[in-house]
Amino acid sequence: MWMCFFCMTGQERSEKSECVSLSPMREAVPAPPEYERVCVFGTGDMGRSLGLRLLQAGYGVVFGSRRPQSSSLLPHRAQVLGHAAAAQSAHLIFIAVQREHYDFLVPLANQLKGKVLVDLSNNLRKNQYPEANAEYLQSLVPGAEVVKGFNTLSAWALQNGPSDANRQVYICGESAEAKQAVMAVATKLGFSALDRGSLSAAWELEDFPLQLFPQWRLPLRIAIGLCAAFFFYLLIRDIIYSYITQGKDISFRIMVSLANKVCPIVSLIMLSLCYLPGVLASFLQLYRGTKYRRFPDWLDRWMLCRKQLGLLALGFAFLHVLYTLIIPIRYYVRFKSTERTVSLIRENRTTEFDTTMAWRGDSYLSLGILGFGLYVLLGITSLPSVSNALSWREFSFVQSKLGHLTLLLCTAHTYLYGWNRFLSSSIYKWYTPPGYMLCLVLPSVVLLLKLLLITPCVDRTITRIRQGWERGADQRNPKDSQPLIP
Ligand code: NAP
Repeated sequence: MWMCFFCMTGQERSEKSECVSLSPMREAVPAPPEYERVCVFGTGDMGRSLGLRLLQAGYGVVFGSRRPQSSSLLPHRAQVLGHAAAAQSAHLIFIAVQREHYDFLVPLANQLKGKVLVDLSNNLRKNQYPEANAEYLQSLVPGAEVVKGFNTLSAWALQNGPSDANRQVYICGESAEAKQAVMAVATKLGFSALDRGSLSAAWELEDFPLQLFPQWRLPLRIAIGLCAAFFFYLLIRDIIYSYITQGKDISFRIMVSLANKVCPIVSLIMLSLCYLPGVLASFLQLYRGTKYRRFPDWLDRWMLCRKQLGLLALGFAFLHVLYTLIIPIRYYVRFKSTERTVSLIRENRTTEFDTTMAWRGDSYLSLGILGFGLYVLLGITSLPSVSNALSWREFSFVQSKLGHLTLLLCTAHTYLYGWNRFLSSSIYKWYTPPGYMLCLVLPSVVLLLKLLLITPCVDRTITRIRQGWERGADQRNPKDSQPLIP
Protein backbone atom coordinates (compact mmCIF):
# COMPACT_ATOMS: atom_id res chain seq x y z
CA MET A 1 0.00 0.00 0.00
CA TRP A 2 1.22 3.50 -0.77
CA MET A 3 1.51 5.65 2.38
CA CYS A 4 1.22 9.40 2.52
CA PHE A 5 3.88 11.43 4.34
CA PHE A 6 1.64 12.03 7.37
CA CYS A 7 0.85 8.32 7.79
CA MET A 8 4.55 7.44 8.14
CA THR A 9 6.36 6.57 11.32
CA GLY A 10 8.86 9.07 12.70
CA GLN A 11 11.80 7.11 11.28
CA GLU A 12 10.19 6.84 7.88
CA ARG A 13 9.39 10.54 7.96
CA SER A 14 13.01 11.44 8.63
CA GLU A 15 14.12 9.13 5.82
CA LYS A 16 11.56 10.66 3.52
CA SER A 17 13.88 13.61 3.26
CA GLU A 18 16.01 11.32 1.04
CA CYS A 19 13.07 10.91 -1.31
CA VAL A 20 13.44 12.84 -4.50
CA SER A 21 10.84 13.44 -7.14
CA LEU A 22 12.72 13.34 -10.39
CA SER A 23 10.31 15.28 -12.49
CA PRO A 24 7.41 17.58 -11.98
CA MET A 25 5.33 14.93 -13.73
CA ARG A 26 6.25 12.29 -11.14
CA GLU A 27 5.38 14.70 -8.36
CA ALA A 28 2.10 15.62 -9.99
CA VAL A 29 0.89 12.02 -10.47
CA PRO A 30 1.27 10.10 -7.19
CA ALA A 31 0.46 6.40 -7.28
CA PRO A 32 -3.01 5.51 -6.08
CA PRO A 33 -2.94 4.37 -2.45
CA GLU A 34 -4.34 0.91 -3.12
CA TYR A 35 -1.20 -0.13 -5.05
CA GLU A 36 0.86 -2.93 -3.52
CA ARG A 37 4.40 -1.67 -3.03
CA VAL A 38 7.50 -3.42 -4.27
CA CYS A 39 11.06 -2.19 -3.81
CA VAL A 40 13.90 -2.38 -6.33
CA PHE A 41 17.49 -1.78 -5.19
CA GLY A 42 19.60 -0.47 -8.08
CA THR A 43 18.60 1.93 -10.81
CA GLY A 44 20.66 0.33 -13.61
CA ASP A 45 19.33 -1.36 -16.77
CA MET A 46 17.75 -4.29 -14.97
CA GLY A 47 16.31 -2.24 -12.11
CA ARG A 48 14.74 0.29 -14.49
CA SER A 49 13.22 -2.36 -16.78
CA LEU A 50 11.84 -4.32 -13.86
CA GLY A 51 10.49 -1.16 -12.24
CA LEU A 52 8.73 -0.16 -15.43
CA ARG A 53 7.12 -3.59 -15.83
CA LEU A 54 6.05 -3.64 -12.19
CA LEU A 55 4.42 -0.23 -12.58
CA GLN A 56 2.65 -1.39 -15.73
CA ALA A 57 1.37 -4.43 -13.83
CA GLY A 58 -0.14 -2.18 -11.19
CA TYR A 59 2.46 -2.25 -8.43
CA GLY A 60 3.76 0.78 -6.63
CA VAL A 61 7.50 0.90 -7.13
CA VAL A 62 10.09 2.34 -4.75
CA PHE A 63 13.68 2.40 -5.96
CA GLY A 64 16.50 2.15 -3.46
CA SER A 65 19.54 4.03 -4.71
CA ARG A 66 22.91 5.30 -3.46
CA ARG A 67 22.21 8.67 -5.01
CA PRO A 68 18.44 9.20 -5.04
CA GLN A 69 18.86 12.85 -5.99
CA SER A 70 20.77 12.18 -9.15
CA SER A 71 19.01 9.04 -10.42
CA SER A 72 17.58 9.69 -13.83
CA LEU A 73 15.74 7.90 -16.63
CA LEU A 74 13.47 6.21 -14.11
CA PRO A 75 9.84 5.54 -14.97
CA HIS A 76 7.31 8.15 -13.97
CA ARG A 77 5.25 7.36 -10.87
CA ALA A 78 8.22 5.55 -9.27
CA GLN A 79 9.64 6.82 -6.00
CA VAL A 80 13.36 6.97 -5.36
CA LEU A 81 14.65 6.75 -1.79
CA GLY A 82 17.84 5.89 -0.02
CA HIS A 83 18.33 2.15 0.57
CA ALA A 84 17.23 2.20 4.22
CA ALA A 85 14.01 4.12 3.59
CA ALA A 86 13.20 2.11 0.48
CA ALA A 87 13.75 -1.17 2.35
CA GLN A 88 11.16 -0.17 4.94
CA SER A 89 8.56 0.75 2.38
CA ALA A 90 7.99 -2.75 0.98
CA HIS A 91 8.09 -6.41 1.98
CA LEU A 92 9.49 -7.62 -1.33
CA ILE A 93 12.83 -6.21 -2.49
CA PHE A 94 14.43 -6.96 -5.84
CA ILE A 95 18.23 -6.65 -5.67
CA ALA A 96 19.20 -5.34 -9.12
CA VAL A 97 22.82 -4.69 -8.17
CA GLN A 98 25.95 -6.58 -9.21
CA ARG A 99 27.06 -9.21 -6.68
CA GLU A 100 30.43 -7.45 -6.13
CA HIS A 101 28.56 -4.61 -4.39
CA TYR A 102 26.36 -6.72 -2.11
CA ASP A 103 28.31 -5.64 0.99
CA PHE A 104 26.25 -2.41 1.01
CA LEU A 105 23.41 -4.59 2.35
CA VAL A 106 25.22 -5.56 5.55
CA PRO A 107 24.55 -2.26 7.40
CA LEU A 108 20.89 -2.58 6.33
CA ALA A 109 20.47 -5.92 8.14
CA ASN A 110 17.94 -4.47 10.60
CA GLN A 111 15.73 -2.92 7.93
CA LEU A 112 15.92 -6.09 5.84
CA LYS A 113 14.95 -8.46 8.66
CA GLY A 114 11.98 -10.60 7.63
CA LYS A 115 11.90 -9.12 4.10
CA VAL A 116 11.94 -11.16 0.92
CA LEU A 117 15.06 -10.38 -1.13
CA VAL A 118 14.97 -11.44 -4.76
CA ASP A 119 18.47 -12.02 -6.09
CA LEU A 120 18.56 -11.17 -9.80
CA SER A 121 22.30 -11.39 -10.23
CA ASN A 122 24.27 -13.31 -12.83
CA ASN A 123 27.99 -13.90 -13.25
CA LEU A 124 30.35 -13.38 -16.15
CA ARG A 125 31.53 -17.00 -16.18
CA LYS A 126 30.80 -20.33 -14.52
CA ASN A 127 32.34 -21.01 -11.07
CA GLN A 128 33.36 -17.36 -10.74
CA TYR A 129 32.71 -17.48 -6.98
CA PRO A 130 32.96 -20.31 -4.44
CA GLU A 131 29.23 -20.07 -3.62
CA ALA A 132 26.12 -19.09 -5.58
CA ASN A 133 25.30 -15.36 -5.48
CA ALA A 134 21.96 -16.03 -3.78
CA GLU A 135 23.65 -18.12 -1.06
CA TYR A 136 26.20 -15.34 -0.59
CA LEU A 137 23.37 -12.82 -0.25
CA GLN A 138 21.66 -15.04 2.33
CA SER A 139 24.91 -15.25 4.33
CA LEU A 140 25.20 -11.43 4.31
CA VAL A 141 21.60 -10.89 5.42
CA PRO A 142 20.64 -13.98 7.45
CA GLY A 143 17.48 -12.33 8.79
CA ALA A 144 15.95 -11.99 5.32
CA GLU A 145 14.38 -14.64 3.08
CA VAL A 146 16.41 -14.83 -0.13
CA VAL A 147 14.76 -16.06 -3.31
CA LYS A 148 16.68 -16.49 -6.56
CA GLY A 149 14.68 -15.53 -9.59
CA PHE A 150 14.18 -13.45 -12.74
CA ASN A 151 17.91 -13.70 -13.53
CA THR A 152 17.25 -15.73 -16.69
CA LEU A 153 15.40 -12.75 -18.23
CA SER A 154 17.30 -9.91 -19.81
CA ALA A 155 16.51 -6.27 -19.12
CA TRP A 156 15.38 -6.06 -22.75
CA ALA A 157 13.01 -9.03 -22.41
CA LEU A 158 11.56 -7.52 -19.24
CA GLN A 159 10.96 -4.22 -20.95
CA ASN A 160 9.25 -5.86 -23.91
CA GLY A 161 7.12 -8.09 -21.73
CA PRO A 162 6.65 -11.84 -21.89
CA SER A 163 6.48 -13.52 -25.27
CA ASP A 164 5.85 -17.16 -26.08
CA ALA A 165 9.55 -17.89 -26.36
CA ASN A 166 10.42 -15.95 -23.21
CA ARG A 167 7.73 -16.63 -20.69
CA GLN A 168 9.41 -18.82 -18.10
CA VAL A 169 10.80 -17.49 -14.82
CA TYR A 170 12.71 -19.87 -12.55
CA ILE A 171 12.52 -19.42 -8.79
CA CYS A 172 14.32 -21.13 -5.93
CA GLY A 173 14.63 -20.45 -2.22
CA GLU A 174 14.24 -21.94 1.25
CA SER A 175 10.99 -20.30 2.33
CA ALA A 176 7.79 -21.49 0.65
CA GLU A 177 5.95 -18.25 1.54
CA ALA A 178 8.74 -16.08 0.14
CA LYS A 179 8.72 -18.09 -3.10
CA GLN A 180 4.93 -17.82 -3.27
CA ALA A 181 5.19 -14.03 -2.98
CA VAL A 182 7.77 -13.84 -5.80
CA MET A 183 5.79 -16.24 -7.97
CA ALA A 184 2.69 -14.12 -7.49
CA VAL A 185 4.59 -11.08 -8.78
CA ALA A 186 5.97 -13.09 -11.74
CA THR A 187 2.47 -14.27 -12.63
CA LYS A 188 1.08 -10.75 -12.39
CA LEU A 189 3.83 -9.58 -14.75
CA GLY A 190 2.65 -12.21 -17.26
CA PHE A 191 5.42 -14.76 -16.74
CA SER A 192 4.95 -18.37 -15.75
CA ALA A 193 7.00 -19.13 -12.67
CA LEU A 194 8.61 -22.50 -12.13
CA ASP A 195 9.76 -23.51 -8.63
CA ARG A 196 13.19 -25.14 -8.90
CA GLY A 197 13.43 -26.04 -5.21
CA SER A 198 15.73 -24.84 -2.45
CA LEU A 199 18.41 -22.15 -2.60
CA SER A 200 21.01 -24.81 -3.47
CA ALA A 201 19.50 -24.77 -6.99
CA ALA A 202 20.68 -21.15 -7.37
CA TRP A 203 23.93 -22.43 -8.91
CA GLU A 204 22.00 -23.98 -11.73
CA LEU A 205 19.83 -20.89 -12.29
CA GLU A 206 22.91 -18.66 -12.35
CA ASP A 207 24.51 -20.91 -14.98
CA PHE A 208 21.47 -20.74 -17.32
CA PRO A 209 22.27 -17.34 -18.85
CA LEU A 210 25.89 -18.37 -19.42
CA GLN A 211 24.93 -21.26 -21.65
CA LEU A 212 25.58 -20.69 -25.32
CA PHE A 213 23.19 -22.70 -27.49
CA PRO A 214 23.62 -25.85 -25.34
CA GLN A 215 21.24 -27.96 -27.44
CA TRP A 216 22.67 -26.72 -30.71
CA ARG A 217 26.26 -27.67 -30.03
CA LEU A 218 26.12 -31.30 -31.12
CA PRO A 219 23.96 -30.65 -34.23
CA LEU A 220 26.20 -27.74 -35.22
CA ARG A 221 29.33 -29.87 -34.83
CA ILE A 222 27.75 -32.62 -36.93
CA ALA A 223 26.75 -30.08 -39.61
CA ILE A 224 30.21 -28.47 -39.72
CA GLY A 225 31.93 -31.89 -39.74
CA LEU A 226 29.73 -33.18 -42.57
CA CYS A 227 30.14 -29.97 -44.59
CA ALA A 228 33.93 -30.05 -44.25
CA ALA A 229 34.18 -33.79 -45.02
CA PHE A 230 31.98 -33.63 -48.14
CA PHE A 231 33.46 -30.36 -49.33
CA PHE A 232 37.00 -31.82 -49.40
CA TYR A 233 35.76 -35.13 -50.79
CA LEU A 234 33.99 -33.39 -53.70
CA LEU A 235 36.85 -30.94 -54.17
CA ILE A 236 39.22 -33.85 -54.74
CA ARG A 237 36.78 -35.87 -56.89
CA ASP A 238 35.48 -33.04 -59.07
CA ILE A 239 38.01 -30.21 -59.23
CA ILE A 240 41.41 -31.74 -58.46
CA TYR A 241 40.62 -34.89 -60.47
CA SER A 242 39.83 -32.80 -63.59
CA TYR A 243 42.97 -30.75 -63.15
CA ILE A 244 45.27 -33.74 -62.73
CA THR A 245 43.78 -36.12 -65.31
CA GLN A 246 42.62 -33.65 -68.01
CA GLY A 247 44.56 -30.47 -67.17
CA LYS A 248 41.23 -28.56 -66.94
CA ASP A 249 40.86 -25.76 -64.40
CA ILE A 250 37.23 -25.84 -63.25
CA SER A 251 37.92 -24.34 -59.83
CA PHE A 252 35.13 -21.74 -60.43
CA ARG A 253 32.70 -24.59 -59.69
CA ILE A 254 33.60 -24.39 -56.02
CA MET A 255 31.33 -21.40 -55.51
CA VAL A 256 28.01 -22.75 -56.80
CA SER A 257 28.24 -26.31 -58.15
CA LEU A 258 30.19 -27.68 -55.22
CA ALA A 259 28.12 -25.79 -52.68
CA ASN A 260 24.96 -27.07 -54.37
CA LYS A 261 26.24 -30.62 -53.96
CA VAL A 262 27.35 -30.28 -50.34
CA CYS A 263 24.09 -28.67 -49.15
CA PRO A 264 21.64 -31.40 -50.22
CA ILE A 265 24.04 -34.14 -49.11
CA VAL A 266 24.38 -32.66 -45.62
CA SER A 267 20.65 -31.94 -45.49
CA LEU A 268 19.67 -35.52 -46.33
CA ILE A 269 22.17 -37.05 -43.89
CA MET A 270 21.03 -34.73 -41.10
CA LEU A 271 17.38 -35.50 -41.78
CA SER A 272 18.23 -39.22 -41.50
CA LEU A 273 20.10 -38.52 -38.26
CA CYS A 274 16.89 -36.96 -37.02
CA TYR A 275 14.93 -40.19 -37.49
CA LEU A 276 17.66 -42.76 -36.80
CA PRO A 277 17.62 -42.44 -32.97
CA GLY A 278 13.83 -43.03 -32.85
CA VAL A 279 14.24 -46.17 -34.92
CA LEU A 280 17.19 -47.37 -32.78
CA ALA A 281 15.18 -46.69 -29.60
CA SER A 282 12.31 -48.82 -30.95
CA PHE A 283 14.68 -51.71 -31.73
CA LEU A 284 16.24 -51.38 -28.27
CA GLN A 285 12.80 -51.60 -26.66
CA LEU A 286 11.99 -54.61 -28.82
CA TYR A 287 15.25 -56.27 -27.83
CA ARG A 288 14.77 -55.53 -24.13
CA GLY A 289 11.05 -56.33 -24.23
CA THR A 290 10.23 -53.33 -22.03
CA LYS A 291 10.01 -49.57 -22.10
CA TYR A 292 10.86 -49.30 -18.41
CA ARG A 293 14.65 -49.26 -18.84
CA ARG A 294 16.60 -46.12 -19.49
CA PHE A 295 18.12 -45.58 -22.90
CA PRO A 296 21.90 -45.21 -22.96
CA ASP A 297 23.01 -41.61 -22.33
CA TRP A 298 24.29 -41.12 -25.88
CA LEU A 299 20.89 -42.12 -27.31
CA ASP A 300 19.09 -39.84 -24.86
CA ARG A 301 21.30 -36.90 -25.84
CA TRP A 302 20.85 -37.69 -29.52
CA MET A 303 17.05 -37.81 -29.19
CA LEU A 304 17.02 -34.51 -27.32
CA CYS A 305 18.69 -32.66 -30.19
CA ARG A 306 16.49 -34.02 -33.01
CA LYS A 307 14.68 -30.70 -33.39
CA GLN A 308 17.95 -28.84 -33.88
CA LEU A 309 19.19 -31.50 -36.32
CA GLY A 310 15.97 -31.14 -38.28
CA LEU A 311 16.11 -27.34 -38.36
CA LEU A 312 19.72 -27.37 -39.58
CA ALA A 313 18.76 -29.96 -42.20
CA LEU A 314 15.96 -27.63 -43.32
CA GLY A 315 18.47 -24.76 -43.54
CA PHE A 316 20.70 -26.79 -45.87
CA ALA A 317 17.70 -27.85 -47.96
CA PHE A 318 16.73 -24.20 -48.28
CA LEU A 319 20.24 -23.30 -49.49
CA HIS A 320 20.02 -26.14 -52.03
CA VAL A 321 16.76 -24.67 -53.34
CA LEU A 322 18.32 -21.21 -53.66
CA TYR A 323 21.42 -22.54 -55.42
CA THR A 324 19.23 -24.55 -57.78
CA LEU A 325 17.05 -21.54 -58.63
CA ILE A 326 20.05 -19.48 -59.75
CA ILE A 327 21.38 -22.17 -62.11
CA PRO A 328 19.79 -20.64 -65.28
CA ILE A 329 21.43 -17.24 -64.68
CA ARG A 330 24.92 -18.62 -64.18
CA TYR A 331 27.44 -17.48 -66.81
CA TYR A 332 28.80 -21.02 -67.20
CA VAL A 333 25.34 -22.48 -67.85
CA ARG A 334 24.33 -19.73 -70.31
CA PHE A 335 27.66 -20.12 -72.15
CA LYS A 336 27.33 -23.91 -72.44
CA SER A 337 23.73 -23.68 -73.62
CA THR A 338 24.53 -21.07 -76.32
CA GLU A 339 27.60 -22.98 -77.42
CA ARG A 340 25.59 -26.17 -77.83
CA THR A 341 22.83 -24.43 -79.81
CA VAL A 342 25.38 -22.76 -82.12
CA SER A 343 27.21 -26.01 -82.72
CA LEU A 344 23.92 -27.80 -83.55
CA ILE A 345 23.07 -25.02 -86.04
CA ARG A 346 26.55 -25.14 -87.58
CA GLU A 347 26.36 -28.90 -87.98
CA ASN A 348 22.75 -28.60 -89.15
CA ARG A 349 21.73 -31.19 -86.57
CA THR A 350 18.70 -31.60 -84.34
CA THR A 351 18.25 -33.74 -81.25
CA GLU A 352 15.44 -36.19 -80.58
CA PHE A 353 13.06 -35.52 -77.71
CA ASP A 354 13.70 -38.16 -75.05
CA THR A 355 10.46 -38.94 -73.19
CA THR A 356 12.27 -41.07 -70.63
CA MET A 357 14.60 -38.21 -69.79
CA ALA A 358 11.62 -35.85 -69.56
CA TRP A 359 9.91 -38.22 -67.11
CA ARG A 360 13.08 -38.56 -65.11
CA GLY A 361 13.68 -34.81 -64.93
CA ASP A 362 10.10 -33.96 -64.03
CA SER A 363 9.85 -36.71 -61.43
CA TYR A 364 13.17 -35.68 -59.92
CA LEU A 365 12.03 -32.05 -59.64
CA SER A 366 8.54 -32.90 -58.45
CA LEU A 367 9.76 -35.17 -55.65
CA GLY A 368 12.25 -32.48 -54.64
CA ILE A 369 9.53 -29.83 -54.46
CA LEU A 370 7.15 -32.10 -52.48
CA GLY A 371 9.96 -33.11 -50.13
CA PHE A 372 10.92 -29.48 -49.56
CA GLY A 373 7.29 -28.49 -48.96
CA LEU A 374 6.95 -31.12 -46.23
CA TYR A 375 10.37 -30.16 -44.88
CA VAL A 376 9.10 -26.59 -44.39
CA LEU A 377 5.95 -27.92 -42.71
CA LEU A 378 8.11 -29.91 -40.25
CA GLY A 379 10.14 -26.77 -39.54
CA ILE A 380 7.04 -24.64 -38.95
CA THR A 381 5.42 -27.17 -36.60
CA SER A 382 8.58 -27.33 -34.51
CA LEU A 383 8.21 -23.62 -33.62
CA PRO A 384 6.94 -23.39 -30.02
CA SER A 385 4.08 -21.04 -30.94
CA VAL A 386 2.80 -23.55 -33.53
CA SER A 387 3.54 -26.78 -31.66
CA ASN A 388 1.79 -25.38 -28.56
CA ALA A 389 -1.38 -25.05 -30.63
CA LEU A 390 -1.26 -28.72 -31.72
CA SER A 391 -2.45 -31.72 -29.75
CA TRP A 392 0.17 -34.38 -29.02
CA ARG A 393 -1.44 -36.64 -31.67
CA GLU A 394 -1.32 -33.91 -34.32
CA PHE A 395 2.27 -33.04 -33.44
CA SER A 396 3.45 -36.65 -33.56
CA PHE A 397 1.54 -37.22 -36.84
CA VAL A 398 3.38 -34.31 -38.48
CA GLN A 399 6.80 -34.97 -36.95
CA SER A 400 6.80 -38.75 -37.24
CA LYS A 401 4.53 -39.79 -40.14
CA LEU A 402 5.06 -36.75 -42.36
CA GLY A 403 8.70 -36.64 -41.26
CA HIS A 404 9.36 -40.16 -42.53
CA LEU A 405 7.43 -39.30 -45.70
CA THR A 406 9.72 -36.28 -46.16
CA LEU A 407 12.75 -38.53 -45.76
CA LEU A 408 11.28 -40.96 -48.30
CA LEU A 409 10.58 -38.19 -50.86
CA CYS A 410 14.02 -36.61 -50.46
CA THR A 411 15.72 -40.01 -50.73
CA ALA A 412 13.72 -40.85 -53.87
CA HIS A 413 14.63 -37.39 -55.24
CA THR A 414 18.32 -38.27 -54.80
CA TYR A 415 17.91 -41.77 -56.32
CA LEU A 416 16.30 -40.15 -59.39
CA TYR A 417 19.23 -37.74 -59.59
CA GLY A 418 21.55 -40.75 -59.83
CA TRP A 419 19.16 -42.61 -62.18
CA ASN A 420 21.15 -45.19 -64.16
CA ARG A 421 24.49 -43.59 -63.43
CA PHE A 422 24.94 -45.92 -60.46
CA LEU A 423 25.89 -48.62 -62.96
CA SER A 424 28.31 -46.55 -65.02
CA SER A 425 31.96 -47.18 -64.12
CA SER A 426 33.07 -43.75 -65.45
CA ILE A 427 31.53 -41.94 -62.47
CA TYR A 428 33.76 -43.75 -59.99
CA LYS A 429 36.64 -41.29 -60.29
CA TRP A 430 39.75 -42.66 -58.60
CA TYR A 431 37.49 -45.57 -57.55
CA THR A 432 35.44 -43.28 -55.33
CA PRO A 433 31.63 -43.06 -55.55
CA PRO A 434 29.97 -39.66 -56.10
CA GLY A 435 28.82 -37.75 -53.00
CA TYR A 436 25.10 -38.28 -53.64
CA MET A 437 25.64 -42.07 -53.61
CA LEU A 438 27.40 -41.91 -50.26
CA CYS A 439 24.67 -39.77 -48.75
CA LEU A 440 22.01 -42.30 -49.77
CA VAL A 441 23.39 -44.99 -47.46
CA LEU A 442 22.05 -43.59 -44.17
CA PRO A 443 18.52 -42.59 -45.32
CA SER A 444 18.12 -45.95 -47.07
CA VAL A 445 19.09 -47.77 -43.85
CA VAL A 446 16.71 -45.63 -41.76
CA LEU A 447 13.83 -46.19 -44.20
CA LEU A 448 14.47 -49.95 -44.32
CA LEU A 449 14.54 -50.18 -40.52
CA LYS A 450 11.34 -48.09 -40.32
CA LEU A 451 9.72 -50.40 -42.86
CA LEU A 452 10.61 -53.35 -40.63
CA LEU A 453 9.11 -51.56 -37.62
CA ILE A 454 5.77 -50.92 -39.34
CA THR A 455 5.29 -54.50 -40.47
CA PRO A 456 2.19 -55.72 -38.56
CA CYS A 457 3.88 -58.29 -36.29
CA VAL A 458 6.69 -55.96 -35.18
CA ASP A 459 4.37 -52.96 -34.93
CA ARG A 460 1.99 -54.93 -32.69
CA THR A 461 4.76 -55.90 -30.28
CA ILE A 462 6.21 -52.39 -30.13
CA THR A 463 2.75 -50.91 -29.49
CA ARG A 464 2.22 -53.38 -26.61
CA ILE A 465 5.60 -52.46 -25.14
CA ARG A 466 4.75 -48.76 -25.35
CA GLN A 467 1.49 -49.44 -23.54
CA GLY A 468 3.40 -50.99 -20.63
CA TRP A 469 3.59 -54.67 -21.55
CA GLU A 470 6.86 -56.39 -20.58
CA ARG A 471 8.30 -59.56 -22.04
CA GLY A 472 8.72 -62.19 -19.31
CA ALA A 473 6.25 -60.42 -17.01
CA ASP A 474 3.61 -63.03 -17.99
CA GLN A 475 5.72 -65.79 -16.39
CA ARG A 476 6.57 -63.65 -13.39
CA ASN A 477 2.94 -62.69 -12.71
CA PRO A 478 0.23 -64.85 -14.31
CA LYS A 479 -2.31 -62.01 -13.81
CA ASP A 480 -0.40 -59.99 -16.38
CA SER A 481 -0.80 -62.64 -19.07
CA GLN A 482 -3.81 -60.81 -20.52
CA PRO A 483 -2.58 -59.20 -23.74
CA LEU A 484 -2.91 -55.43 -23.68
CA ILE A 485 -4.11 -55.42 -27.26
CA PRO A 486 -6.62 -58.14 -27.97
P1 NAP B 1 23.96 -1.91 -13.88
O1 NAP B 1 23.33 -1.28 -15.08
O2 NAP B 1 25.43 -1.84 -13.71
O3 NAP B 1 23.25 -1.31 -12.59
C1 NAP B 1 23.57 -1.72 -11.32
C2 NAP B 1 23.05 -0.72 -10.32
O4 NAP B 1 23.57 -1.09 -9.06
C3 NAP B 1 23.56 0.69 -10.55
O5 NAP B 1 22.74 1.40 -11.41
C4 NAP B 1 23.58 1.28 -9.15
O6 NAP B 1 22.33 1.86 -8.85
C5 NAP B 1 23.76 0.06 -8.26
N1 NAP B 1 25.13 0.03 -7.75
C6 NAP B 1 26.29 0.15 -8.44
N2 NAP B 1 27.34 0.10 -7.59
C7 NAP B 1 26.84 -0.02 -6.33
C8 NAP B 1 27.43 -0.11 -5.05
N3 NAP B 1 28.74 -0.07 -4.85
N4 NAP B 1 26.61 -0.23 -4.01
C9 NAP B 1 25.28 -0.26 -4.14
N5 NAP B 1 24.65 -0.16 -5.34
C10 NAP B 1 25.44 -0.06 -6.41
O7 NAP B 1 23.59 -3.44 -13.81
P2 NAP B 1 22.28 -4.15 -14.39
O8 NAP B 1 22.52 -4.52 -15.80
O9 NAP B 1 21.08 -3.36 -14.06
O10 NAP B 1 22.27 -5.50 -13.53
C11 NAP B 1 21.89 -5.49 -12.18
C12 NAP B 1 21.85 -6.93 -11.70
O11 NAP B 1 20.89 -7.65 -12.46
C13 NAP B 1 23.18 -7.66 -11.88
O12 NAP B 1 23.41 -8.49 -10.76
C14 NAP B 1 22.98 -8.47 -13.12
O13 NAP B 1 23.75 -9.66 -13.09
C15 NAP B 1 21.49 -8.79 -13.02
N6 NAP B 1 20.89 -9.05 -14.35
C16 NAP B 1 21.00 -8.12 -15.35
C17 NAP B 1 20.40 -8.37 -16.57
C18 NAP B 1 20.45 -7.37 -17.70
O14 NAP B 1 19.94 -7.65 -18.79
N7 NAP B 1 21.01 -6.22 -17.50
C19 NAP B 1 19.72 -9.59 -16.78
C20 NAP B 1 19.62 -10.50 -15.74
C21 NAP B 1 20.21 -10.22 -14.52
P3 NAP B 1 22.27 3.21 -8.01
O15 NAP B 1 23.25 4.17 -8.63
O16 NAP B 1 20.87 3.68 -8.13
O17 NAP B 1 22.65 2.88 -6.58
